[in-house]
Amino acid sequence: MDLTLSAADEAFRLEVRTFLEESLTPELQEGADKRTSLWQDVPSSLTWQRILHVKGWVAPDWPAEYGGTGWSVVQRYIFAQECARARCPSLIPMSLKMCGPMLIGYGTDEQKAHYLPRILSGQDFWCQGYSESGSGSDLASLSTMAVGDGDEYVVNGAKIWTSYAQHANMMFALVRTSTEGKKQEGISFLLIDMTSPGITVRPIINIAGAHELNEVFFEDVRVPKANRVGEENDGWSVAKYLLEFERFAMGSVEVRRTLDRVEASATATPMRGETLKEDPGFRRKLAQLRIDTMVLEASEQRVLAKLSAGEPPGPASSLLRVQNGETQQRADLLGAEALGYYAAPYQPEALEVGASMPPIGPAEGIAFVPMYLSNRMKTIAGGSSEIQRNIAAKVILGL
Ligand SMILES: Cc1cc2nc3c(=O)[nH]c(=O)nc-3n(C[C@H](O)[C@H](O)[C@H](O)COP(=O)(O)OP(=O)(O)OC[C@H]3O[C@@H](n4cnc5c(N)ncnc54)[C@H](O)[C@@H]3O)c2cc1C
Repeated sequence: MDLTLSAADEAFRLEVRTFLEESLTPELQEGADKRTSLWQDVPSSLTWQRILHVKGWVAPDWPAEYGGTGWSVVQRYIFAQECARARCPSLIPMSLKMCGPMLIGYGTDEQKAHYLPRILSGQDFWCQGYSESGSGSDLASLSTMAVGDGDEYVVNGAKIWTSYAQHANMMFALVRTSTEGKKQEGISFLLIDMTSPGITVRPIINIAGAHELNEVFFEDVRVPKANRVGEENDGWSVAKYLLEFERFAMGSVEVRRTLDRVEASATATPMRGETLKEDPGFRRKLAQLRIDTMVLEASEQRVLAKLSAGEPPGPASSLLRVQNGETQQRADLLGAEALGYYAAPYQPEALEVGASMPPIGPAEGIAFVPMYLSNRMKTIAGGSSEIQRNIAAKVILGL
């Protein structure tokens, strides 16, 4: 295998690097550095999204005819690496990575024409209404009801763990339209306007003290039938298709960024007369994580090749999700080790966004602790690791 970049790819890297240098403001880079949770803060993310949209680079994974870039696997990879290197804010995934690909696969021509441009530009901000209390891993047991009434459905029920619902003007949601037959067969997929009368959003504060999650209540909410994606009672196929995209992420870029910061912190952490970076036990863990990140990267490239061919990620995204989540959490744990007592969650200054944590904290003042806590969700959201392994056993191994 020849891993050397071709002259054309090197030229592309230079083009990306130049664009990033010209477009990223210090405020945006600071926003990226100070991210304390899985989700980027909305102002940084949307500002950056709009800049990328103007350039035509906001949705590299979409087919070119809908606004994608038409890049090769290598180009996509270079772009992700350069964005991490230049400290770009991350894009919030619900619209661009979940709703958009789902609409491209299953939406009507009218739905695609209306929603896709609004997703690319950031005009619409989507949230995901899948989980309900009691219906997380067992998602198909959901009970939010949608009853047909003329050209509309009337929706009643509640969703939980709805990320960024407080910012969203649209929700893609699973609702029950039939209680007969298998539970998967009575589910429909709706696009719900969050400004509709009868919707209430109530915050849930997470373990890191952040407001990302919500409960969303529906009381006689009217949704046009034209907002259904797929056939009535066939929403389960749409839901599973979307989850394949949700579970795929270029996680290795994020892990590598964490490891760079861990290494920088360890250089400043005293340890038996030298620094933690010289400690053989620490070095072994760091080296193993660097190797595992390369393995993760190779797995991601396989899925990227499918996306480049216009195919969905497939069940491999479940395995990738496990590999990504667990590697990230081990990297976070090593970060906590590198911070020593500054990693204690009860240290108020460590929980402060962008808190200055030297003498032994990371040089850039990155708050590891909130990220460590927030990333616990990487093996829960989108289906827990146990559920992903169950899917792999069933769909890939045929067990
Ligand atoms: C930060 C965060 C953001 C989220 N954002 C959203 C969102 O925007 N929209 C949305 O709809 N949902 C969201 N979720 C919800 C997420 O999808 C669910 O938390 C997840 O599917 C797990 O469901 P649960 O929490 O009900 O856990 P449960 O299903 O109660 O599971 C509890 C434990 O039991 C294990 N378990 C359950 N069933 C099995 C089984 N069959 N075999 C083996 N082990 C099993 C699980 O692995 C887990 O460890 C989010 C969750 C988090 C943490």
